[in-house]
Amino acid sequence: MDVTGLMGELVVKSAPEAGFDDLARVHSVEYLRAFKELSDTGGGEIRLRAPLARGGYEIAALATGLASAALEAVLRGDLDNAYALSRPPGHHCLPDFPNGFCLLANLAIAICAARAEGLVRRVAVIDWDVHHGNGTEAIFYEDPDVLTISLHQARNYPPDTGDATDRGRGAGLGANMNIPLPPGAGHATYLEALERLVVPALRAYRPEVLVVACGYDAGALDPLGRMLATAETFRQMTRILCDLADDLCGGRLMMAHEGGYSEVEVYVPFCGHAVLEEMSGASARAPDPLAETLAARQPSARMQAVFSEHLEELEALFSRPAV
Ligand SMILES: [Zn+2]
Repeated sequence: MDVTGLMGELVVKSAPEAGFDDLARVHSVEYLRAFKELSDTGGGEIRLRAPLARGGYEIAALATGLASAALEAVLRGDLDNAYALSRPPGHHCLPDFPNGFCLLANLAIAICAARAEGLVRRVAVIDWDVHHGNGTEAIFYEDPDVLTISLHQARNYPPDTGDATDRGRGAGLGANMNIPLPPGAGHATYLEALERLVVPALRAYRPEVLVVACGYDAGALDPLGRMLATAETFRQMTRILCDLADDLCGGRLMMAHEGGYSEVEVYVPFCGHAVLEEMSGASARAPDPLAETLAARQPSARMQAVFSEHLEELEALFSRPAV
């Protein structure tokens, strides 16, 4: 972003750590204390695949603080939209069970803080990280005021969550949507899934703000995913949601960084740059050096038809009332 000049076209802000009370709206006090103690005493592994070094608590709280500040700035109208570029990610984190590199549920904490401030009531979360957003789903599973939508590679991580039939519970029934995609799905399938399933769901729900769990691990070079999304995929998905936010909620759109690990650490920045170009309307461009290579790797027409059929089945499922 420095090289292309994009940084110079954005409003760049930082934010303080999220406070304990904000974290405790989502996480148990016992978990937060155990996390802090481990962080203070040198770090280690906490629960499942959630390692941290000394000071990891403060770093995680900074990431959460940035997500909260970004959402608040959008809801207060200080910024048109906002992208929280921070790590660690948050979408796998359960209230008392960190997992999948996620130590705090950044977006859920940000949403609960905004609701506590009276800034918003009805929120939609769109999670296009290649892994299932199991933490966000679990936290809002019985909450009708937060629609959680996750597009993910089926049965990747966690291997036992993310089924399309999981549609919420109690008052939240119908406010959770899982779109598991077969490995190998690429550019066309992601866009088709968005247009065919996500956009209609959002139009029907009418949220006051769109919140995106923006992982890049559906990118074609990612070692932790088996999908074929490209920088252009992320650009077009962003465009679709920006346009929809304009239509539904005064343009209010906030994204938070989740996963994305490309093999030689070269591709994620191009995908992220494309997202930020679309969100900001900036003139800086970072042409995708792999566009031609990855276009040639997209699924065949025959496989594309299979993926479309899969989406058609999901469309039929979602058209039936949730039970
Ligand atoms: Zn991921």
